[in-house]
Amino acid sequence: MNKIIDGKKISLERKEELIKKVNELKSKLALVVISVGSNEASKVYVHQKEKMALEIGYNFLNLHFDNILEDDLINEIDKLNKDKKITGIIVQLPLPVNLNKDRILNSINPLKDVDGLTNNNLIKLIKKEESLLPCTPKGIMTLFDYYNVDFIGKNVVIVGRSELVGLPLFHLLLNKNATVTLCHSKTKDLSHYTKEADILISAVGKKDLITRDMIKENSILIDVGINRYENKLYGDINSECIDISNLMTPVPGGVGPMTVISLMENVYLANSLQMRK
Ligand code: NAD
Repeated sequence: MNKIIDGKKISLERKEELIKKVNELKSKLALVVISVGSNEASKVYVHQKEKMALEIGYNFLNLHFDNILEDDLINEIDKLNKDKKITGIIVQLPLPVNLNKDRILNSINPLKDVDGLTNNNLIKLIKKEESLLPCTPKGIMTLFDYYNVDFIGKNVVIVGRSELVGLPLFHLLLNKNATVTLCHSKTKDLSHYTKEADILISAVGKKDLITRDMIKENSILIDVGINRYENKLYGDINSECIDISNLMTPVPGGVGPMTVISLMENVYLANSLQMRK
């Protein structure tokens, strides 16, 4: 069995399916990405989203501000919330430090919150109600579905508790009846937990945080981390871990492509949820 989880291939399969569904819609869906400031990495991410959105057949708009006051930004979001032509709204993170991220994110209509980051959507996720899920956790759950992973009786260890990745994953996996441990920067003796993991997910951003001596044999390893080192990309999990694992996501080409396709799937789902309202 091939041990590498080919996120690129799986995301391409899903892209083809999504394009077919989008072609059957009567009207064109639209994704807006709001960006503020001049973060170079953000520019690359916005461009990637634009490219994919256009390939899927969505309209795309990047609403960019060099500078904007918090209240003015919230007014702009409110206009988009009310605009029937706009299906999904993203605020590209990170925002400049003078802007209150939580207040801004929570001003997005939850039915248009295609990044799944509003409090409203987080509560729905916890309560197992249908909602727009954050894209990286959604992409990882899609991978588990693809491999028919059964969580009952399994120890899942997540390293990293961010609102973007670790925290929503904790609830999604708990809702699947896994026994979930959430480790973070204040966890003492990380390997004590990782060695017990049937499924280990690392979302930290530290190259070689997880080494071969820290994992259980035949475990499933999901590497969310992105670390640039000497012009190459690495995850958090040392690549030697593949020798004793059952399945492992590579970096790049694992979780990353699943995150992007999940965003595109969220735009389609947002439209369905809005039609039902
Ligand atoms: P974050 O900085 O918000 O959170 C990092 C988490 O790691 C925190 O909860 C912190 O407590 C924990 N942590 C830090 N040092 C630790 C240590 N030594 N031991 C255990 N836990 C530790 O980051 P994030 O936004 O969740 O992103 C994490 C990583 O995942 C980054 O490398 C980011 O680039 C990457 N990422 C990738 C994708 C993707 O699509 N592949 C998407 C989102 C984030």
